[in-house]
Amino acid sequence: ERDRLSRLRHTPAVTLDGERVELQANIELPVDAPAALEAGAVGVGLFRSEFLFMNRGGELPGEEEQFEAYRDAVEAMKGLPVTIRTVDIGADKPLDRLSVHELRHEYTMNPALGLRAIRWSLSEPNMFRQQLRAILRAAALGKVRLLIPMVAHLGEVRQVLDALARAKQQLHEAGKPHGDVEVGAMIEVPAAALMLPTLLKHFDFVSIGTNDLIQYTLAIDRADEAVSHLYDPWHPAVLSLIARAIADARSAGKHVGVCGEMAGDPAFTDLLLAMGLRSFSMHPSRIASIKQRILRADTRLLFPHLDEVLSSDDPEAASERLFNRKQQQA
Ligand code: PEP
Ligand code: MG
Repeated sequence: ERDRLSRLRHTPAVTLDGERVELQANIELPVDAPAALEAGAVGVGLFRSEFLFMNRGGELPGEEEQFEAYRDAVEAMKGLPVTIRTVDIGADKPLDRLSVHELRHEYTMNPALGLRAIRWSLSEPNMFRQQLRAILRAAALGKVRLLIPMVAHLGEVRQVLDALARAKQQLHEAGKPHGDVEVGAMIEVPAAALMLPTLLKHFDFVSIGTNDLIQYTLAIDRADEAVSHLYDPWHPAVLSLIARAIADARSAGKHVGVCGEMAGDPAFTDLLLAMGLRSFSMHPSRIASIKQRILRADTRLLFPHLDEVLSSDDPEAASERLFNRKQQQA
């Protein structure tokens, strides 16, 4: 069994019909990177940088401390790409009670709809500039991609790109080594999914955050147990937004991945392949079972059933029936 798993680790994720699939890891801290490599990840698809900011009494990590963390992750991945998401603080990931108060951010009734993620970063320009500089400096040491959480508005996109240009200019003037980064948007708000062709003009790639996309599409707080039975990744509206986003990104020739929990759940692998997804990012512990699923999949048999699953009253049952049986017969 150990042998089989270790062989699997070095086997590329390719479907029966020869479609290559990229399996990347989600990490929270640089110490998670070795486990990602060990699991056979071909890169980090999501480094949740907010974990560097949390549980430290509200004191924020400065440029130097962040640079060291990003450098450690880049070096640990030994030349594989590392996608660093700018801080996604707020809602389910508060800095901590005290600091939220100190930063003059009032408690709100709906934190998930409030000042979180890129909104918070843009409201703290000094903090944001330090993070961008730290990421650009780490990019001198390996392949680094920059990912922006919770993009919903073109105004935010312009502010982010301006801040990035300024951060580069500052590093240049200070004579500090830095590299170039591809810039991507998280697609996790329905507005972003619906306006993807417009957003894609400004980004090099997109990554679909299904955890938040489900929350915002269905108006279900992902942290509220009273409604957790309604948090449904199989909801036709959710599936339709994901399918549409993947198709729009592919037709624009832009790289698209999924980094929410759905990417690491084998129940969705066939469906996501049928939608055209070829890049998945997940907790390292999920990679082996998703890879096994991909090795057994034939996208030529999956794709013809996509519309029937998407238009079904019960996409979960339809997916099980149409995809699994077809492939078993093959
Ligand atoms: C998501 O929303 O799907 C996602 C990957 O981001 P997080 O879970 O960190 O909000
Ligand atoms: Mg999210």
